[in-house]
Amino acid sequence: MNLLGIDFEDWYHPQLVEPFVPDAKKIPTMFKGLDKILELLRKYDIKATFFLVGELLSSNPEILDKILADQHEIGFHTMKHTRLDVPNFKPIFKEEIKEFNKITSGKSIGFRAPTFSINEKSSWVIDELADNNYKYDSSIIPAKTNLYGIPKAEKSPYKITSENLDKNDEKGSLIEFPLLVTKFLGKTIPAAGGFYLRSLPLKIIKNAIKSYERNEIPSSFYIHSWELTPEFIPKIKLPIKNRFITFHKIEKTFSKMENLFNEFDFTSFNSYFKKI
Ligand SMILES: [Zn+2]
Repeated sequence: MNLLGIDFEDWYHPQLVEPFVPDAKKIPTMFKGLDKILELLRKYDIKATFFLVGELLSSNPEILDKILADQHEIGFHTMKHTRLDVPNFKPIFKEEIKEFNKITSGKSIGFRAPTFSINEKSSWVIDELADNNYKYDSSIIPAKTNLYGIPKAEKSPYKITSENLDKNDEKGSLIEFPLLVTKFLGKTIPAAGGFYLRSLPLKIIKNAIKSYERNEIPSSFYIHSWELTPEFIPKIKLPIKNRFITFHKIEKTFSKMENLFNEFDFTSFNSYFKKI
C-alpha cells in the first residue's frame, strides 16, 4: 500500500521562497487550486492525507470542510510552516498544536514537519505529538540532502521516540512513516515527491515504489499543493538556486502524478491504520 500526503500550504511558505517575500505580499492564493486537486483525487478514486498549514484556515475555513467532505484525512504541518529546529520554537509549537486541534475539532492524528526538519535539535517534537494523542509522523527521509535527512533511518514504518529517531523503539507510541528513497548512481536519494519527482525520470520513481511493494514496505509519498496548481503562483524574484530547487519542471508535476495514479494505488495514512 502506498501512502499519499499532500502538504497543503501557500506559494510563500516553502523555506527557499519565504525569506524573499515581503509580509505584505503574503496573500493566501493556493486555496483557489483545492478544487482541482480534489477533482484529480476523485478521478482516480484516491484518498489522501492533507497536511495543512494551520494559518490558512483562518482566511479560508472552507478548505477544511472541502477536504473532509471527500473523506480525505487532515494532518498538521504547523501553523505557519516554521522549521522545527529554529531556536526556541518548542513553546510556540506547544501552543500551535493546541490551536490546530481546536480549529480542526481534534481530527488530526498525523504530523509532517515543514522541510522534513525533524533531527537531533528538534527531537522534542515526538514527545509533544505523543502528549497530544497523535498516532503518527511522516517527516523522516532516510537519505541526506542539503536541507534535511537522517541517512541511517529505517525505511519501513517503526515506533519512533525522541531518543531513537532513526530506528524502532518499543517504548514509542507514535508510528513513523519514513518517506520513499531509492539508490541512484550509487547514492541514496529521496524519491518521495517534490524536487525529485519533478527532476528525475518517472521510471526511477516507479522502480522505487515497485521495490518497496516487493518488500511489502508502504511507500510514503508527498506532493505540495502549489506543485499541482502552479497557475496560481504569482511571479516571484528568487536567487537562481532557490528557484531551481523549488520550481524546476513544476509544470510536469500534475501529469507525472496522474501517471503514477494510473499505475499504483495510494491511500491516506489513517486508512492504513484502519487496515492493520
Ligand atoms: Zn511544507
